[in-house]
Amino acid sequence: MHPVSPRYDGYTAYDYLEAGTDYQHFDLAPQLGRVPAYDLALDADQQARVARLMAEEIVFSLHEHAVVLPEDATEIRRYNRTGRQRTGYEGLAHSGLTAVIDNFMAGASCVTSQNGWKWDDMIYALGFRLADLAKQDMVVHALTVDDILRAKGEGRIALVAGFECATMIENELDRIDMLYGFGVRQLGIAYSQSNMLGGGLSERNDGGLTNFGRRAVERMNKLGMLIDISHSGDRTCLEVIEHSAVPVMITHAGARAVWPTARMKPDEVITACADRGGLIGLEAAPHTTISPAHPEHSIASVMDHFEHCVDLVGIDHVAFGPDTMFGDHVAVHHAYASNYAQRQEGGPAHPEVEYVAGLENPAENFGNIAAWLVKHGYSDADISKVLGGNVMRVLGEVW
Ligand SMILES: [Zn+2]
Repeated sequence: MHPVSPRYDGYTAYDYLEAGTDYQHFDLAPQLGRVPAYDLALDADQQARVARLMAEEIVFSLHEHAVVLPEDATEIRRYNRTGRQRTGYEGLAHSGLTAVIDNFMAGASCVTSQNGWKWDDMIYALGFRLADLAKQDMVVHALTVDDILRAKGEGRIALVAGFECATMIENELDRIDMLYGFGVRQLGIAYSQSNMLGGGLSERNDGGLTNFGRRAVERMNKLGMLIDISHSGDRTCLEVIEHSAVPVMITHAGARAVWPTARMKPDEVITACADRGGLIGLEAAPHTTISPAHPEHSIASVMDHFEHCVDLVGIDHVAFGPDTMFGDHVAVHHAYASNYAQRQEGGPAHPEVEYVAGLENPAENFGNIAAWLVKHGYSDADISKVLGGNVMRVLGEVW
């Protein structure tokens, strides 16, 4: 855990409203200490090095849902239906993060529908949280690279708004402009299920980027919207990489060469993405980036994917997008099992974990990543790149 942000004044989500009167109250999961701290057994010098790197470097998470879940996991669907997810300010204050791409409720955006990804539901999720963000001083809604640099200088945390799929634009290209206007700076193509733009990774057949998808990529390029291909099918990924005029990102995934599931990317896609200047952020949602050497999902398994990607495309094209939240992520998968039916299909057998040790929530992720890199002999220059330097370089080209 890191020194608390000097900008944190104890604000909790929707403090400007009256709980129980203006909006529905839920008892929330604790943001700190819900699971035991992960001990990488560093000596005093190594700990000091981690502290220095976390303080000096841009620390950028490519993918999180930095919100607090209800304490009672059976209330997750009821909580999400209100549209008002709570930003985890207390946890973020201890995270050491400079910036985070927050992906709101993603497929769990079920306000007017139980199946997710509806335009109205995404706007509920975005609008409620951005209104709340405007009522406090620690987290800033970042729209530019300069906003992120300024946040670092001021001891604030930059939140970048992202949606991990474009299904809700339906057949309306102009909705990409509207999302940009509302402050969204990252958009995925398809979320596992295919849509108007292209193929999702769970489909038996991937027809590649559609004609509409090609126009959507062009519009995102014109706007300066970062394109994410994490949940797209392999052929669609390759065609997006080829069609985009600027680098795209795999913000949260792992390597299929390490763990053979559709959720992981084949070397061909990771290499093509890097060759065009893009990068891959390593994913840590429960039961995704498992490895044969570490089948019980933990930071050790994730780092097996990290090392594979560094060997494959070089350290300049690798970052981290742990994809965590404050609360029981495994329970979220169970609550939305019917929406996320594709998640585990085709993967080898592996033990179930209650949580991913070392990468469980946004407060602990990057301190543990930095500690692991220090412990495993990475140089300050290389650690600087993967903590955030690489992301800042690519965003400079894209935005
Ligand atoms: Zn995702």
